[in-house]
Amino acid sequence: MTLRRTVTLLGSTGSIGVSTLDLFEQAMAHGSAEVEVVALTAGRNVNLLIEQCLKWRPQFAVIADESELEVLRDGLGGTGIRCGAGALAVVEAGAMDAQWVMSAIVGFAGLAPTLEAARRGAIIALANKESLVCAGPALIETARQAGGTLIPVDSEHSAIFQVLHPDQERRVSRLILTASGGPFRTWTRDAMAGVTPEQAVAHPNWSMGAKISVDSATMMNKGLEMIEASYLFGMGPEMIDVVVHPQSVIHSLVEYQDGSTLAQLGPPDMRSPIAVAYAWPDRLPWPAPALDLAAFGQLTFEAPDLEKFPAIATARAALAHGGAAPTVMNAANEVAVAAFLDRRLGFLDIAATVDRTLDRMNSLGQLETSAGDDILETAMMVDASARRVATDVVAGLARSS
Ligand code: NAD
Ligand code: MG
Repeated sequence: MTLRRTVTLLGSTGSIGVSTLDLFEQAMAHGSAEVEVVALTAGRNVNLLIEQCLKWRPQFAVIADESELEVLRDGLGGTGIRCGAGALAVVEAGAMDAQWVMSAIVGFAGLAPTLEAARRGAIIALANKESLVCAGPALIETARQAGGTLIPVDSEHSAIFQVLHPDQERRVSRLILTASGGPFRTWTRDAMAGVTPEQAVAHPNWSMGAKISVDSATMMNKGLEMIEASYLFGMGPEMIDVVVHPQSVIHSLVEYQDGSTLAQLGPPDMRSPIAVAYAWPDRLPWPAPALDLAAFGQLTFEAPDLEKFPAIATARAALAHGGAAPTVMNAANEVAVAAFLDRRLGFLDIAATVDRTLDRMNSLGQLETSAGDDILETAMMVDASARRVATDVVAGLARSS
């Protein structure tokens, strides 16, 4: 049986976007999927976007960076593909009538177009964890009211989604997120002070975009994922634990009150959770790489080192605090990671920036912001003020180092 869908990819040129199109190609060759692309959007990589459009023939192609619009128009001349540029055009792509939307823009920028897709009841394959962290409850409620579905693509959340039976949710005692521990798991904190961007983006198991690779290295990625899990599965911070599992074979676990723990396993390949999101509740047959457990020989586990990786505790506290705290935390982290990648900030100062930004905004009473009528407007205001404070904190830390 062939599963047909019209699809839009928000962030088609990134790591997840490219994996999604690769999965489609393989599943179509296999005869299990038939995909018609409605819109493709990219941030800056106009050449790859043009290449993807010539192959997949969407109705609409969007480049967020407006200075690349002419290049996009030239590249797609004579194809009949409509071209757009800028943040509003990305939102317009999310609003177009595709049944299935891959939300794979990195950062807060993914929220507005994802919300637009949620408003019209699309099936949303959600990779963009920052949009959940900044507006999770509202995004989930919007999708629910419109009759749409949010299916997590983040491997940990896809694992939990697959093993958490809806009739048994009330009998869950713990969600256990696995973490690879990142490239600096065995480093000392002193050694971590000198980490370069090149070292931080070289992840041991997963090939990912730069921002999430740095998040994995600081373990803020796991912090963001705890918040993501709390909103997606409706469980408080006390029910969410993290275990370090360096082989990244077990993608997460659900522990039930009767002592049974269920896990989902697979090779570290994002095409698998993307396939789950494409076909759920069915399964998509494609030439998936098999898991060779004997080749691994051993799977190991350890507790996270909270002193070396303070981001986990920061995120747990932000989640427990609620209000604007998760959005502030996310914004400060985005600012700090960008400054680190730009060599303006040391590696350990990423976590310091996030903590100081939260402290400053807390002392100004700005973590209490409750959701206003307009979800997006509220989140955007909090995000913008946190970015201003974080930018100031980064400047201070850079001066003192
Ligand atoms: P990436 O940096 O490789 O790709 C990001 C995509 O977003 C690109 O297409 C880029 O052009 C686009 N983009 C960037 N800034 C934009 C902007 N301001 N406006 C519009 N588009 C913009 O990132 P990625 O690794 O593919 O990750 C994407 C999202 O998925 C992130 O939220 C990440 O946390 C999440 N995620 C990724 C992985 C992974 O394995 N890569 C796993 C789990 C979750
Ligand atoms: Mg993950």
